[in-house]
Amino acid sequence: MKPAPRRVGTVERRGTGTNIGRGDCTESRKCKPTSEHKDRSVKSVGLLGSELLGALCEADQARLLPHLDAQTLRTGHIIHEPGEIVQHVYFPRNDALIAFLVPMADGETIEISMTGREGAVGGIVSEGQLPAFARCCVHHGGPFFRMPVAALEEIKEKVPAVRMLFARYADCMAAQLFQSIACNARHSIEQRAARWLCAAVNRTGSQEVTLTQAQLGGFLGVGRSYVTRIIGRLKDDGILATRRGAIIVLRPRKLRTLSCDCSALVAAHFRAVMAGLYPPEVVDALAACQDGE
Ligand SMILES: [Zn+2]
Repeated sequence: MKPAPRRVGTVERRGTGTNIGRGDCTESRKCKPTSEHKDRSVKSVGLLGSELLGALCEADQARLLPHLDAQTLRTGHIIHEPGEIVQHVYFPRNDALIAFLVPMADGETIEISMTGREGAVGGIVSEGQLPAFARCCVHHGGPFFRMPVAALEEIKEKVPAVRMLFARYADCMAAQLFQSIACNARHSIEQRAARWLCAAVNRTGSQEVTLTQAQLGGFLGVGRSYVTRIIGRLKDDGILATRRGAIIVLRPRKLRTLSCDCSALVAAHFRAVMAGLYPPEVVDALAACQDGE
């Protein structure tokens, strides 16, 4: 059994690092979900695995529940391509990760952000029904909730706390992107590599990161030989190990000391923005809203 979702006050523990580099989700076609089914356990355990949804009180979770479709999606699954109309919001659960990638004119794709169980993708800023700018791709396969954007928008109109949660989360997404730009401009490849791996470990809860060295080089925007040297040094220090298709973080705390502080800065913003989701005035408004239904 996976741990139950935590409240907003612990969102920062998930890590909030983002990275810019060439992404690995270059698969151009949409693959079918490995299984697509209604998760019958959802109702009994709450919104298992999504920190963002877990931040809502039970009454607000119950409003979303009928609209949530539990799916399992494979790594590489394309959620939407640039230009496609965004019609669904996806909530990664447990160890699932989603990446935003921007295809470039030379055929490369640049990863601009990573979203795990602390967040969601799909119309978070635009409120959906508009063309997507970036490619959205499953970076680490796993369980998700999918919900029609229209249903979410309808609930947001009625429930201040739900509207506030997503507005605040949109602000946090912007903070991630701002910090990524600054990180890319200022911090070393080594720091960014450590940051990226720490963020992946934090989000998935696993010290084994499914990623090749070539893919990591792509995320960081450097060649494979450069990454091989960095990984080699970290292996010599007993911090990392590798196996085919994966990098294993043996000493997460040590790796964290080698990372820049960008993730910590974004996490602090998460903590400040997401705290106090239900202040008294919102609770009053929520109660009034509920009374009126
Ligand atoms: Zn940085």
